[in-house]
Amino acid sequence: MDRSKIKGQKVTILGSQRSALGAARLLSHFGAQILISESSADKFSADKRKLLTDIQATFEFGYHSPDVLESDFIVVSPGIPENADIMLKIREKGIPVYSEIEVTSWFIDAPIIAVTGSNGKTTTVNLIHHLLQVAGYDSFLGGNVGVAASEVLLNSLTKEPKKPIFVLEVSSFQLDNIHSFKPQVAVILNLSPDHLDRYPTLDAYYESKLSILKNLDADCSAIINRDDPELLSRVVIGGNFRFFAVDSLEGADAMIAERILGLMREGVWSPILPAEALPLPGKHNLSNALAAVAAVMDFIPETETLAMGLITFSPVPHRIEYVGKVNGILCYNDSKATNIASTKVAIQSFNQPLWLILGGKDKGGDFTSLIPQLEESLREVLLIGAASEIIESQISPALSYKKLDTLEKAIDYSLEHGEPGDVLLLSPACASFDQFENFEARGNLFRTLIQSREGWSM
Ligand code: ADP
Repeated sequence: MDRSKIKGQKVTILGSQRSALGAARLLSHFGAQILISESSADKFSADKRKLLTDIQATFEFGYHSPDVLESDFIVVSPGIPENADIMLKIREKGIPVYSEIEVTSWFIDAPIIAVTGSNGKTTTVNLIHHLLQVAGYDSFLGGNVGVAASEVLLNSLTKEPKKPIFVLEVSSFQLDNIHSFKPQVAVILNLSPDHLDRYPTLDAYYESKLSILKNLDADCSAIINRDDPELLSRVVIGGNFRFFAVDSLEGADAMIAERILGLMREGVWSPILPAEALPLPGKHNLSNALAAVAAVMDFIPETETLAMGLITFSPVPHRIEYVGKVNGILCYNDSKATNIASTKVAIQSFNQPLWLILGGKDKGGDFTSLIPQLEESLREVLLIGAASEIIESQISPALSYKKLDTLEKAIDYSLEHGEPGDVLLLSPACASFDQFENFEARGNLFRTLIQSREGWSM
C-alpha cells in the first residue's frame, strides 16, 4: 500500500502480542485509527492498556466486535490461524489482510535483507547483522528475533542513520499475509517439516516459505541453499540467484572448499577463513555462515572485513550452547531445537556418547527419523513433558529411553549414570509451551540447574 494513504484509515489489529503492538504504534504514528482486537481476556496487562491509550487506539479483549468487519484493512498476528472464526468472517467480507512484516515494509526506505527457512534463521540474521556492523553499516535487526520489525523501524526513525540496512527474520506465518513485501536480498536457509499443527499440508508450509521470493525483481537477489534438494526442487531459478553450499559445490557462490570458507566472485575464488576458525559448532552452522556471507557480499566487498566479522561473532544462547561440565559430563543447551531437523543437526555435532533430553509440546513431527542418528552414540533418551507418550510409541523398542517427566529429573538421572566424556544434550525437538512459557525459559532452567550441580565447572 502507498504509505501516503495511511492517514485516517481504519485498521484492526488482531492479537496483542509483540508484533501486534509494534504494528499498532507504527500505523498510529502515520495517522491510522487503530482498533486492537484480542480474543483472549487474560492477555491484556496494564502495560498494554497504557501503551494503547498513549497512541489513542481503541481496544477490546475477550471478544471481537462487529467493528472489526468495518475496517479498511486488517493486520493479523502470526499466532492466529486462518481457520479462526474471525478470520473466516474477514475473508468472507473480502477485507485485505496483511502481516506486520508487510505493513512495516511500506515504511522502510533502506535495503532489506530478509531471512526465512525452517532452521537457522536467528543464528543467521544475528550473523548478518554483526557482519554489517563490523563493516560500518547502521544495521537494524528485527522480526521474529526479539524485537518486532515495526518496533525496530520506529526506533530507527528517531536516529539519523547514514548507511541503514534492515535485517529481518521472517517466519512462515508472517509470509502468509505479505502482498508487496520485496526484500533486496531474500534468503531461504532450508526446508524441513515443522508447524504441521498449523498448516493443512507440508506443501502449504513450504509454499509459504517460498513466497519470500514472489515480489523479487532484477534489483533483488535470492540466496538459496544448494545442499537442500527439497528447496532446489521448488524454486524457479532466475538470473539473480546466489547459492551457498557445504556439499554441492558445483555452481555455488559461497562454499567450503578444502576446509576454507569463501566466495566465488565472478568466477574468481576468494577465500575468507578456515572453517575451523568459525566460532560456531556443527556443519549446519557452516551452512548458516555461508548464507550470511552470500547475503552481504554485495554490501561488503572486502574479504578481510568478512573474516573479521565471522571470527568476532558471539553465538546466540540456546542453540547448542555449552553450559559447562559436571564431573566430566559435557552439557549443552539446545532448547531452541523445537523440531526434528534441528535436533538431528545437534546430534550430528557430537561424536561422544550421548544423553539426549527430548519432549515438550509435540508439533506433529516424525521421531522415528531420529533412530538411525542415535543408534551409534546413544546412552539413553530422557523423555520429558506432554509428548513423552507420542515419542515413546515411535522410538520404542529401537532406542533405550526413560520417561522422567521433568527437566530436573532428566538432568539428575543422566548426571548420576553418565561417565566423564559423555555429552548431555537438551535438544527436545518439541515446543516448550506444555511446561514453560517459551524456549528461553526452558533453556535458562537447564543452564541454571546444570550450573547449580555439585562438581560443575566451565
Ligand atoms: P530459527 O530462528 O530458524 O528457529 P535458530 O538459529 O534459532 O533458528 O536455531 C534453531 C535450532 O535449529 C537450534 O537448535 C539450532 O541448533 C538448529 N539449527 C541452526 N541452524 C540450522 C540449520 N542450518 N539446519 C538445521 N538446524 C539448524
